[in-house]
Amino acid sequence: MSDFLASLTQVQQWISSLAARYTVFFPTPHGEANYRFTAIGADDDVRFAPYRPTITPPVKLLVPAREELFRFQHKEDGDLLLSPSVDSSFRVIAGVRPCDLKGIFLMDLFFERGVADPYYLARRENTAIIGYACTTPCTDRVFCAAVDSLDHRQGADLFLTPLASGEILVEANTERGIGLLDSTDLPPCEDGPARKIGAIAARPETYGRSFDADVQSLSGIVEQYWDSPLWDKHTERCFSCGTCNLVCPTCYCFDVRDNLALDTVSGSRTRTWDGCMLPGFAQVAGGHNFRPQPAGRQRHRVKRKFEYLPTKYGHGPVCVGCGRCGRQCTVDIDIYDIVHDLIEGGKS
Ligand code: SF4
Ligand code: SF4
Repeated sequence: MSDFLASLTQVQQWISSLAARYTVFFPTPHGEANYRFTAIGADDDVRFAPYRPTITPPVKLLVPAREELFRFQHKEDGDLLLSPSVDSSFRVIAGVRPCDLKGIFLMDLFFERGVADPYYLARRENTAIIGYACTTPCTDRVFCAAVDSLDHRQGADLFLTPLASGEILVEANTERGIGLLDSTDLPPCEDGPARKIGAIAARPETYGRSFDADVQSLSGIVEQYWDSPLWDKHTERCFSCGTCNLVCPTCYCFDVRDNLALDTVSGSRTRTWDGCMLPGFAQVAGGHNFRPQPAGRQRHRVKRKFEYLPTKYGHGPVCVGCGRCGRQCTVDIDIYDIVHDLIEGGKS
């Protein structure tokens, strides 16, 4: 839509000024190595580097770990009073890296298509996103380039690209993005597209971990595996703790519970995160469990990300290569290694 040029100081001051007006989440260090998207104040530091992936991705701000859906109450006349708990407060999420931006883009698809989810959509509609380009791999775990998320831009109201000159290219992609710049006086940048190409060319040629297969072929490769010792190999150490699901920017499964106050026949309905690696995830009424073994659960998880959902939505792998699941897994089980083995196994 429009490109502008800014110094790093201008961008930092501008984000601080936004924090004086709105709720602004920004990746902030906690302890030695952990980053979290935290609501910042106008006086807090806004630093883009150094950077490590946050433990949970920014999309989880749109799908809280536990949220109330509605309250209900039986009235004396027999009617049922329902009060939905839709959160439509405005917020800004700034410093969103391309892999996490793609995670939000994919979540938009999941929650918009089919039965649209009013809770997610209300939050999303009222969330402005400021993306930030990566110039070097943020950890040795990432494989964002291998799954086509390194250059993802869709869904950001504004996108910031650090240039070799030390300046920042500010791309405004929406009217809301233009509005967020209203307190600035940044000069327009006429050659924004050329500068973007230059920034991409300056990145390392091999960016993070790669697969020995192109991204379009991954779905077909994963489809070939059902009964395979590889699923057992990659769950021998698994505790079935579900952490890999909970930190993933594209996992969205949840459980729903009613909380009843029987004396007044009133209560609330809440939903909480769930995860397909948890032992009880596929257990149904009567006690039957469709995926009682970790290997079956791992197969389901990998196939969802690389076969089922890519086939359904047509936007490539539903794994953005952020490396969080491998990084947070206590026993170092990494989805990259699993897909790597499936690719190698297919060659024998
Ligand atoms: S985080 Fe690791 S141990 Fe926990 S369920 Fe996932 S693969 Fe298994
Ligand atoms: S599966 Fe792992 S690497 Fe892929 S998006 Fe989820 S957390 Fe990131």
